[in-house]
Amino acid sequence: MSAPTSFAEPLWTAEELATATGGRLVGAPAGALVGVSIDSRTIGQGEIYVAIKGDVHDGHAFTVGAFARGAGLAIVDEAHAAQLESAGPLLVVKDTLAALAAAGIAARKRSQARIVAVTGSVGKTSTKEALRAALGQDGPTHASAASFNNHWGVPLTLARLPKSAAYGVFEIGMNHPDEIRPLVKMVRPHVAIVTNVEPVHLAQFRDVEQIADAKAEIFEGLEPGGHAVINRDNAHYERLAAAARACGATVMSFGEHVGADARLDRVALKEASSCVAATILAEPLTFKVGAPGRHVVQNALGVLLAAKLLGADLALAALALAHFEAPTGRGRRYALQTPSGAITVIDESYNANPASMRAALALLGQTPVGSGGRRVAALGDMLELGPQAEALHAGVAEACAKVDLVFTAGPLMKALHDALPAAKRGGWADTAAELQPMLLDRLKGGDALMVKGSNGSRMGPIVAALQARF
Ligand code: ATP
Ligand code: MG
Repeated sequence: MSAPTSFAEPLWTAEELATATGGRLVGAPAGALVGVSIDSRTIGQGEIYVAIKGDVHDGHAFTVGAFARGAGLAIVDEAHAAQLESAGPLLVVKDTLAALAAAGIAARKRSQARIVAVTGSVGKTSTKEALRAALGQDGPTHASAASFNNHWGVPLTLARLPKSAAYGVFEIGMNHPDEIRPLVKMVRPHVAIVTNVEPVHLAQFRDVEQIADAKAEIFEGLEPGGHAVINRDNAHYERLAAAARACGATVMSFGEHVGADARLDRVALKEASSCVAATILAEPLTFKVGAPGRHVVQNALGVLLAAKLLGADLALAALALAHFEAPTGRGRRYALQTPSGAITVIDESYNANPASMRAALALLGQTPVGSGGRRVAALGDMLELGPQAEALHAGVAEACAKVDLVFTAGPLMKALHDALPAAKRGGWADTAAELQPMLLDRLKGGDALMVKGSNGSRMGPIVAALQARF
């Protein structure tokens, strides 16, 4: 993955922010304001600290700490202004989250950047990071940090948009209807990508069609003349395309389908990468994708189509994908040396749902093992799946065809454990912590291990424990 573009120019003046937010300045920053943060622990020198009230903490309590770390200005609300006046220069507003949104809208308004927004059930961050790399070859590119894709993540990413950015890449997520609409109306993308629609967050939705409709809200914020980029192979393609057309968007598609505008012609899936022959808007292109798996190739097709629609150089964009590395916890690989030989660990512990589970198990199935080694999966519960959760867990058994041994953790994974043939059952435990010693005892040299589960299932510490031991 290419390093994030760094922008040297100051981001905001205090006066620009006061105008954008309608706030009142108390004191003046000593130097340039070079960034925006809502986290006092990681804030950098000269950055603006926005005190946001979260579910657990009120960010106002950390304002003094933010100044101690070098914050140049703090955005606080009226209720806290008097007590914080001596801490450092303040911009006092009625509502800090609304002020962040106002700053974001002002940043978008002054920007000349070509903007792409990404949503979908799975693969948003993977696609966003690939876009950052691909567009970064063509010009200064600003992109969301981590999965900053919600009611504070999107305005924060917008407020950070540098004046000189040529491209802006925004991840937009949701777990209920009507969440994407207001966010995308701030972002105003030229291109909106929907990676796919899958049964994820089903607990909050009537059915998967309702999920498709919620994803389709992303087309409502497109700039006039904008493009919708949709996965042609997804079962909900037609529904999404119709919604995009109703918004006046031009529909473009990617996938293996012969009619796709970015079409996969041939692919060689290798252990750590893939070689791809594709046709992107009638232009034939061969390229390498630096992370393994068919799903990564699919994301790459969407990325190249979007890059082309945004006016980037397709060959350069494709070149960047060769160096693309799976983001942490989303397929990143580690080679570890155990006393009985080398093992490969595929870390998929950041999240899981039926679609990404199938993709990850397919990837494990194509991973070579050493002499005497086995393909081993350690799987934690997939959360937020609603009433169908147990059936969806049991259904993963089919995708384990090429896996030798499956360890499971969590009450829902018990359904998968029970659905597996006895020979494949590695063991089940109620929690990831209890599974860990069972799993570590059974691993041996030559094995390839894939660890996956929803973040809340705490499978990540298993990967950390393996790294600490070997
Ligand atoms: P979140 O909603 O948590 O922000 P996300 O949509 O950003 O998730 P990623 O973090 O990119 O998704 O990927 C989540 C998991 O899905 C990873 O394990 C990744 O390898 C896998 N994945 C990525 N792209 C796809 C895809 N197109 N199809 C299936 N699985 C995918
Ligand atoms: Mg994400």
